[in-house]
Amino acid sequence: MGSEGMSLSGKLAVITGSTSGIGLGIARELARAGADVVLNSYTNAAADRELAAGIAAEFGVSARYLQADMANGADCRALIAKSGGCDILVNNAGIQHVAPIERFPDDSWNRILAVNLSAAFHTCAAALPFMRQRGWGRIINVASAHGLRASPFKSAYVAAKHGLVGLTKTVALETAEEEITCNAICPGYVLSPLVEAQIPEQMQAHGMDRETVIREVMLARQPSRRFAEVGQIGAAAVFLCSPAAGQITGTTISIDGGWTAQ
Ligand code: NAD
Repeated sequence: MGSEGMSLSGKLAVITGSTSGIGLGIARELARAGADVVLNSYTNAAADRELAAGIAAEFGVSARYLQADMANGADCRALIAKSGGCDILVNNAGIQHVAPIERFPDDSWNRILAVNLSAAFHTCAAALPFMRQRGWGRIINVASAHGLRASPFKSAYVAAKHGLVGLTKTVALETAEEEITCNAICPGYVLSPLVEAQIPEQMQAHGMDRETVIREVMLARQPSRRFAEVGQIGAAAVFLCSPAAGQITGTTISIDGGWTAQ
């Protein structure tokens, strides 16, 4: 089975944290493949709704924006309920805080665990009945190279992303006999707006030009010395939704330029 049947026409995809960066990239690729999409963030800005309108116009699919705070379990479940269905669930919303563990603020720990891990528990629980009703489903959790490897000063992020990989395996086992799969994509450094914004600060901090700071500082652990692109993460998500990926479940797909080969 190859790329035939790649059309996701008639499927509804809900992508959390999808008004920027990787989530938006995944939403665009799923829409390009024909899926109707629900975009989400907690901001509820006019620009969020315009993004959805833009995707609808560009790809000829239905695209909506729904506000929900992924730090709040009830909001997570309400997002799925308000979507009115969910064939493809992409748990992408994620936040970061960097500090040594003894100075790591409690509220940052709690919020990172809530958004990066617990949100996926709530959305999976809410989405699975819809998937079972339709006899088909795809759950894609956006973890990280930090779901497989650690770095200092990122205790909450690393713990949450490792937890998300564990949740991925568990949900895969609970759905293994059905036409439902659950996998994690583990990106290395991706040039999202979040990362782009760090480049000038890093250039100043290290007194380096853009190319040098990217290569020697930011991508020091990414052997390709190139960022992954949001479209590449989106293409992997589309593949996981294809018939060819029907037996891929409970695993991780690294898109990290060789980071985890080390
Ligand atoms: P980003 O900041 O560009 O996008 C994050 C999105 O999540 C935004 O749309 C934001 O509005 C939304 N969001 C944040 N908190 C939310 C909340 N409480 N409720 C709802 N939405 C919320 O970041 P990104 O770089 O695109 O990251 C997306 C995902 O990819 C995250 O889970 C991140 O951990 C993961 N990731 C990113 C990289 C990278 O290098 N950029 C690498 C590995 C993994």
